[in-house]
Amino acid sequence: MKIILLFVLYGVIPGFQFTLFLLDMPFFGFFDAVNYFFSIFSYYFILNHILITLKLPFLQKWLPYDRMVKFHVVSGTSMAIGLYYHVMDKLVRGKLIDLLTWVMLALFTVLYVLAVLWIEAPGVRRLRRALLRRLGRKNLAPYDRLKKLHGFAFVLLAFFSFLHIRKAGVLDSSFTFAAVYPLIHLVLVLGMFVYSWLRKLWLPRFSLVENSQIHDVSVLAFTPVGRRSIRYKAGQFGYLKWNDPMLSHEEHPFSFLSSPSDPLISLGIKVLGDFTQKTAQVQAGSIALINGGFGNFIPNYAKGKVCLIGSGIGIVPIVSLIKDMARVRPEHEVLCFLAVNTWEDLLMEYEIKQVAKDFPALDLRILIYTEDGILYSTEFFRESIANPQDYTYYLCSSMPVRTIVLKALHELGVARTQFHFEAFSY
Ligand SMILES: Cc1cc2nc3c(=O)[nH]c(=O)nc-3n(C[C@H](O)[C@H](O)[C@H](O)COP(=O)(O)OP(=O)(O)OC[C@H]3O[C@@H](n4cnc5c(N)ncnc54)[C@H](O)[C@@H]3O)c2cc1C
Repeated sequence: MKIILLFVLYGVIPGFQFTLFLLDMPFFGFFDAVNYFFSIFSYYFILNHILITLKLPFLQKWLPYDRMVKFHVVSGTSMAIGLYYHVMDKLVRGKLIDLLTWVMLALFTVLYVLAVLWIEAPGVRRLRRALLRRLGRKNLAPYDRLKKLHGFAFVLLAFFSFLHIRKAGVLDSSFTFAAVYPLIHLVLVLGMFVYSWLRKLWLPRFSLVENSQIHDVSVLAFTPVGRRSIRYKAGQFGYLKWNDPMLSHEEHPFSFLSSPSDPLISLGIKVLGDFTQKTAQVQAGSIALINGGFGNFIPNYAKGKVCLIGSGIGIVPIVSLIKDMARVRPEHEVLCFLAVNTWEDLLMEYEIKQVAKDFPALDLRILIYTEDGILYSTEFFRESIANPQDYTYYLCSSMPVRTIVLKALHELGVARTQFHFEAFSY
């Protein structure tokens, strides 16, 4: 479904618009056609670029936020190619470039450079690190500030690009669809953008019941204030925002440690930077907003046996999943590996052991590094999993552990398509 929707948004709609545009032209040269192709496709790419990253749970089913971020990087790069080609072509052919085009080009260039410096986007990780090293900084600016700037600048770019295609005559079509649909698409996307911001004002409030510290992890338990709560599935994540002027106004993503049937909503948050440090000090009674659930780290039971692998703080969504499975799919065979440093790092040792007792179809192996010294490796999986090719794998860990697990299971004949993972970074 996701692929079909993306194909419609990024291929069929702009393709249809482009075809109608050409049908309307009595004569066109090849380079003009290429130019209009880039104009029309870039316009829709800019709008869809906004659409696929809106934090709206109803869009999640078709456009899962966490998976869309990588696609968002690819569509951004395609836009860059389109926009630069468009301007280069005009320059080479001695055509006039109007002020609006220059503004769009400058805005897009700034946005692209900021995006490269902002996140460890696939394909530009090295470039980002090299640039930041040159600047002598760890980050360009706080993550959230760059994110907001990026989002609003894109909305501006979308509006300018509408003015641009209107001026270029793309909307002067004798076909109704070609003449009006670009505006409808713009209104729909901007409408959803505004709705996603307004919706944040109405998010349910949660009161912090407990904040316990386990080494560098805060385990937070929340209860809804009033009757409104959120709906989420085990394995998903939500955005946490503290409703306190003394605390940061940023929102950060965290997987649910609780499962949907638990009376309280809980999160396990490892201290990393500013936000997580402040969160570690938040007192019971503080009010938070949680936006979710998002993400598709949800096993496909129809595919047969499931193997869950977690390590470090990556055990959070796995714990949520086994608790949920014990309740809703107690007959489904599940193999689960949890690897942490100490027993305390399991975060919910008692609950996990209780689940294992009441869920006979669960084959749970807990690795405590300070006791058994075992790390995930090819040998380990060879000894622990009979017929590794029979499973679908769901992994949540740091990037280096993910690389080790992927390599190990690949050596045991598991195909790449049998892996799904939750990355705690975009
Ligand atoms: C889908 C998902 C689920 C996650 N689940 C958990 C979890 O269950 N437990 C846990 O401890 N951590 C989780 N994380 C990671 C967590 O969001 C970051 O560690 C946290 O936001 C860091 O914030 P900071 O200000 O303390 O650190 P910083 O030093 O500011 O950030 C460190 C890194 O975290 C990432 N980051 C920071 N802010 C954001 C943001 N607003 N949105 C996305 N990424 C950001 C960036 O890559 C950044 O470079 C998850 C991340 C994602 C994307």
